[in-house]
Amino acid sequence: MSLRLLCIIAHPDDECFAFGGALALAAARGIHTNVLCLTDGQAGSYRGDSNTPEQLGILRRSEFAASCDILGIRHHEILDYHDAQLEYAEFSKLAGELVQRIRVFRPHVVLTFGMDGAPNTHPDHTVVSAATTAAVHWAASPKRYKDLGPVHITQRLFHQTQNFFLEGRPQPLPSPWTLTLDIRSVFHQKIDAFRAHASQAPLLAQVLPVFEQHGQDEFYTLMATPHTQPAVQSTDLFEGIIE
Ligand SMILES: [Zn+2]
Repeated sequence: MSLRLLCIIAHPDDECFAFGGALALAAARGIHTNVLCLTDGQAGSYRGDSNTPEQLGILRRSEFAASCDILGIRHHEILDYHDAQLEYAEFSKLAGELVQRIRVFRPHVVLTFGMDGAPNTHPDHTVVSAATTAAVHWAASPKRYKDLGPVHITQRLFHQTQNFFLEGRPQPLPSPWTLTLDIRSVFHQKIDAFRAHASQAPLLAQVLPVFEQHGQDEFYTLMATPHTQPAVQSTDLFEGIIE
Protein backbone atom coordinates (compact mmCIF):
# COMPACT_ATOMS: atom_id res chain seq x y z
CA MET A 1 0.00 0.00 0.00
CA SER A 2 1.28 3.43 -0.84
CA LEU A 3 0.34 6.89 0.31
CA ARG A 4 -2.58 8.31 -1.63
CA LEU A 5 -3.32 11.86 -2.76
CA LEU A 6 -6.70 12.96 -4.15
CA CYS A 7 -7.02 16.33 -5.88
CA ILE A 8 -10.53 17.57 -6.69
CA ILE A 9 -10.85 20.32 -9.31
CA ALA A 10 -13.46 22.03 -11.50
CA HIS A 11 -11.90 22.27 -14.98
CA PRO A 12 -9.29 20.62 -17.19
CA ASP A 13 -6.11 22.71 -16.64
CA ASP A 14 -6.79 23.31 -12.92
CA GLU A 15 -4.66 20.23 -12.21
CA CYS A 16 -1.57 21.90 -13.71
CA PHE A 17 -1.95 25.65 -13.14
CA ALA A 18 -3.00 25.32 -9.50
CA PHE A 19 -1.78 21.92 -8.27
CA GLY A 20 0.80 20.79 -10.85
CA GLY A 21 3.77 21.15 -8.53
CA ALA A 22 2.17 19.24 -5.66
CA LEU A 23 0.98 16.47 -7.96
CA ALA A 24 4.32 16.04 -9.78
CA LEU A 25 6.30 16.06 -6.52
CA ALA A 26 3.99 13.45 -5.00
CA ALA A 27 4.17 11.23 -8.09
CA ALA A 28 7.99 11.44 -8.04
CA ARG A 29 7.88 10.08 -4.46
CA GLY A 30 5.79 7.09 -5.53
CA ILE A 31 2.62 8.49 -3.98
CA HIS A 32 -0.55 7.28 -5.73
CA THR A 33 -2.09 10.42 -7.23
CA ASN A 34 -5.70 10.72 -8.34
CA VAL A 35 -7.38 13.78 -9.90
CA LEU A 36 -11.15 14.15 -10.02
CA CYS A 37 -12.43 16.93 -12.29
CA LEU A 38 -16.09 17.94 -12.11
CA THR A 39 -16.56 19.40 -15.62
CA ASP A 40 -15.03 18.98 -19.07
CA GLY A 41 -14.56 22.71 -19.58
CA GLN A 42 -17.12 23.35 -22.30
CA ALA A 43 -17.54 27.01 -21.28
CA GLY A 44 -13.86 27.88 -21.73
CA SER A 45 -13.09 31.28 -23.26
CA TYR A 46 -10.46 29.71 -25.52
CA ARG A 47 -11.94 27.04 -27.75
CA GLY A 48 -9.14 25.79 -30.02
CA ASP A 49 -10.61 24.69 -33.34
CA SER A 50 -13.78 23.28 -31.80
CA ASN A 51 -17.10 24.39 -33.28
CA THR A 52 -19.49 23.28 -30.54
CA PRO A 53 -19.39 23.01 -26.74
CA GLU A 54 -19.47 19.23 -27.10
CA GLN A 55 -16.42 19.25 -29.39
CA LEU A 56 -14.57 21.47 -26.93
CA GLY A 57 -15.45 19.08 -24.11
CA ILE A 58 -14.08 16.11 -26.05
CA LEU A 59 -10.91 18.05 -26.92
CA ARG A 60 -10.37 19.17 -23.34
CA ARG A 61 -10.87 15.64 -22.01
CA SER A 62 -7.98 14.46 -24.19
CA GLU A 63 -5.83 17.45 -23.19
CA PHE A 64 -6.56 16.71 -19.54
CA ALA A 65 -5.46 13.09 -19.97
CA ALA A 66 -2.21 14.21 -21.62
CA SER A 67 -1.54 16.73 -18.85
CA CYS A 68 -2.18 14.09 -16.17
CA ASP A 69 0.31 11.75 -17.89
CA ILE A 70 2.99 14.48 -17.82
CA LEU A 71 2.35 15.03 -14.10
CA GLY A 72 2.58 11.29 -13.36
CA ILE A 73 -1.03 11.09 -12.19
CA ARG A 74 -2.05 7.45 -11.90
CA HIS A 75 -5.81 7.82 -11.98
CA HIS A 76 -7.97 10.60 -13.37
CA GLU A 77 -11.67 11.06 -13.97
CA ILE A 78 -13.96 13.77 -15.34
CA LEU A 79 -17.57 13.98 -14.13
CA ASP A 80 -20.44 15.40 -16.17
CA TYR A 81 -21.22 18.63 -14.34
CA HIS A 82 -21.69 21.75 -16.47
CA ASP A 83 -18.78 24.16 -16.72
CA ALA A 84 -19.59 27.62 -15.29
CA GLN A 85 -22.79 26.20 -13.74
CA LEU A 86 -21.46 24.44 -10.64
CA GLU A 87 -23.07 26.91 -8.25
CA TYR A 88 -26.45 25.63 -9.44
CA ALA A 89 -25.58 21.95 -8.93
CA GLU A 90 -27.49 20.13 -6.21
CA PHE A 91 -25.05 20.33 -3.30
CA SER A 92 -26.01 17.14 -1.49
CA LYS A 93 -25.79 15.09 -4.69
CA LEU A 94 -22.42 16.60 -5.63
CA ALA A 95 -21.00 16.11 -2.13
CA GLY A 96 -22.32 12.53 -2.13
CA GLU A 97 -20.45 11.75 -5.36
CA LEU A 98 -17.28 13.04 -3.73
CA VAL A 99 -17.94 11.15 -0.48
CA GLN A 100 -18.36 7.94 -2.46
CA ARG A 101 -15.03 8.42 -4.26
CA ILE A 102 -13.21 9.38 -1.05
CA ARG A 103 -14.50 6.24 0.67
CA VAL A 104 -13.33 4.05 -2.23
CA PHE A 105 -9.91 5.66 -2.86
CA ARG A 106 -9.22 6.33 0.85
CA PRO A 107 -6.80 9.25 0.37
CA HIS A 108 -4.35 10.28 3.08
CA VAL A 109 -4.29 13.82 1.65
CA VAL A 110 -6.98 15.75 -0.23
CA LEU A 111 -6.23 18.95 -2.18
CA THR A 112 -8.75 21.42 -3.55
CA PHE A 113 -9.17 25.14 -4.18
CA GLY A 114 -9.76 27.69 -1.43
CA MET A 115 -13.15 29.34 -1.08
CA ASP A 116 -11.79 32.50 -2.73
CA GLY A 117 -11.92 30.77 -6.12
CA ALA A 118 -8.18 31.01 -6.84
CA PRO A 119 -6.43 33.92 -8.62
CA ASN A 120 -9.27 34.25 -11.17
CA THR A 121 -12.08 34.08 -8.51
CA HIS A 122 -13.98 31.53 -10.61
CA PRO A 123 -17.27 30.55 -8.90
CA ASP A 124 -16.77 26.92 -9.99
CA HIS A 125 -13.54 26.91 -7.95
CA THR A 126 -15.44 28.16 -4.90
CA VAL A 127 -18.08 25.46 -5.30
CA VAL A 128 -15.56 22.64 -5.70
CA SER A 129 -13.86 23.94 -2.55
CA ALA A 130 -17.13 23.91 -0.59
CA ALA A 131 -18.26 20.50 -1.85
CA THR A 132 -14.86 18.85 -1.35
CA THR A 133 -14.51 20.28 2.15
CA ALA A 134 -17.96 19.02 3.11
CA ALA A 135 -17.23 15.64 1.50
CA VAL A 136 -13.98 15.13 3.43
CA HIS A 137 -15.84 15.74 6.70
CA TRP A 138 -18.92 13.74 5.71
CA ALA A 139 -16.86 10.79 4.39
CA ALA A 140 -15.47 10.52 7.95
CA SER A 141 -18.90 10.54 9.59
CA PRO A 142 -20.84 7.33 10.19
CA LYS A 143 -24.01 9.44 10.26
CA ARG A 144 -23.64 10.70 6.69
CA TYR A 145 -24.28 8.82 3.42
CA LYS A 146 -24.56 5.46 5.19
CA ASP A 147 -25.12 3.59 1.92
CA LEU A 148 -21.96 4.94 0.27
CA GLY A 149 -19.42 2.63 1.86
CA PRO A 150 -17.39 2.52 5.08
CA VAL A 151 -16.27 5.80 6.62
CA HIS A 152 -12.83 7.13 5.71
CA ILE A 153 -10.84 9.63 7.76
CA THR A 154 -8.66 11.81 5.55
CA GLN A 155 -5.44 12.73 7.37
CA ARG A 156 -5.01 16.19 5.82
CA LEU A 157 -7.29 18.48 3.80
CA PHE A 158 -5.49 21.38 2.14
CA HIS A 159 -6.90 24.36 0.27
CA GLN A 160 -4.78 25.92 -2.43
CA THR A 161 -3.89 29.57 -1.80
CA GLN A 162 -1.55 32.18 -3.26
CA ASN A 163 1.02 34.86 -2.50
CA PHE A 164 0.22 37.18 -5.41
CA PHE A 165 -2.68 38.77 -7.27
CA LEU A 166 -3.27 38.87 -11.02
CA GLU A 167 -3.13 42.41 -12.39
CA GLY A 168 -6.32 43.74 -13.91
CA ARG A 169 -8.54 41.12 -12.25
CA PRO A 170 -10.87 41.33 -9.26
CA GLN A 171 -8.82 40.45 -6.18
CA PRO A 172 -9.74 37.26 -4.31
CA LEU A 173 -9.63 36.98 -0.50
CA PRO A 174 -7.02 34.22 -0.12
CA SER A 175 -6.55 32.21 3.04
CA PRO A 176 -3.17 32.50 4.83
CA TRP A 177 -0.94 29.59 3.94
CA THR A 178 0.40 27.04 6.39
CA LEU A 179 2.46 25.12 3.83
CA THR A 180 5.01 26.29 1.27
CA LEU A 181 5.92 23.75 -1.36
CA ASP A 182 9.19 24.31 -3.21
CA ILE A 183 8.33 23.14 -6.74
CA ARG A 184 11.49 24.24 -8.56
CA SER A 185 12.45 20.64 -9.33
CA VAL A 186 9.16 20.05 -11.18
CA PHE A 187 8.42 23.57 -12.46
CA HIS A 188 9.06 22.61 -16.09
CA GLN A 189 6.82 19.57 -15.71
CA LYS A 190 4.03 21.86 -14.49
CA ILE A 191 4.46 24.17 -17.51
CA ASP A 192 4.71 21.20 -19.91
CA ALA A 193 1.44 19.88 -18.48
CA PHE A 194 -0.16 23.28 -19.13
CA ARG A 195 1.18 23.15 -22.70
CA ALA A 196 -0.68 19.85 -23.17
CA HIS A 197 -3.86 21.98 -22.96
CA ALA A 198 -3.26 23.22 -26.52
CA SER A 199 -6.73 24.81 -26.74
CA GLN A 200 -5.74 27.01 -23.79
CA ALA A 201 -2.47 28.24 -25.33
CA PRO A 202 -3.56 31.92 -25.27
CA LEU A 203 -4.20 31.60 -21.54
CA LEU A 204 -0.78 30.07 -20.93
CA ALA A 205 0.81 32.93 -22.88
CA GLN A 206 -0.89 35.38 -20.48
CA VAL A 207 0.02 33.61 -17.26
CA LEU A 208 3.49 32.28 -18.08
CA PRO A 209 5.24 35.51 -17.05
CA VAL A 210 3.31 35.38 -13.74
CA PHE A 211 4.38 31.76 -13.18
CA GLU A 212 7.98 32.61 -14.00
CA GLN A 213 7.89 35.42 -11.44
CA HIS A 214 5.87 33.74 -8.66
CA GLY A 215 5.64 30.07 -9.59
CA GLN A 216 8.63 28.52 -7.84
CA ASP A 217 6.48 27.69 -4.83
CA GLU A 218 2.90 26.54 -4.33
CA PHE A 219 1.00 27.57 -1.22
CA TYR A 220 -1.58 25.58 0.72
CA THR A 221 -3.64 26.01 3.87
CA LEU A 222 -4.18 23.06 6.20
CA MET A 223 -7.95 22.99 6.74
CA ALA A 224 -8.60 19.70 8.57
CA THR A 225 -6.76 16.90 10.39
CA PRO A 226 -7.93 14.20 12.82
CA HIS A 227 -5.94 15.94 15.60
CA THR A 228 -6.24 19.12 17.65
CA GLN A 229 -3.22 21.29 17.04
CA PRO A 230 -2.12 24.89 16.53
CA ALA A 231 -1.46 26.10 13.00
CA VAL A 232 2.19 25.55 12.12
CA GLN A 233 4.20 26.18 8.97
CA SER A 234 5.22 23.13 6.98
CA THR A 235 6.95 22.24 3.71
CA ASP A 236 5.59 18.73 3.08
CA LEU A 237 1.98 17.72 2.37
CA PHE A 238 2.62 14.28 3.89
CA GLU A 239 4.63 15.32 6.96
CA GLY A 240 3.81 13.07 9.91
CA ILE A 241 1.49 10.78 7.95
CA ILE A 242 2.13 7.05 8.35
CA GLU A 243 0.92 4.59 5.71
ZN1 LIG B 1 -10.60 26.28 -13.30
